[in-house]
Amino acid sequence: MEKKNCYVCGKQDLSKNEIGLIKKLIDKDAKRYYCIDCLSEFLEVDTEFLLAKVEEFKEQGCILF
Ligand SMILES: [Zn+2]
Repeated sequence: MEKKNCYVCGKQDLSKNEIGLIKKLIDKDAKRYYCIDCLSEFLEVDTEFLLAKVEEFKEQGCILF
């Protein structure tokens, strides 16, 4: 899989979970990717919420995670 960097802080090599969240919550063909910290700021939620979402998507059997 192609490596992604955070658009905001430049963190390299985002995790599969981070990329999956962008695809699920923002756009499946997103051009900009965010690490979980910057994503939580961007969406104005806390990281715990995003991590809970990851678990939720995994339970649904989402192929992105
Ligand atoms: Zn970042």
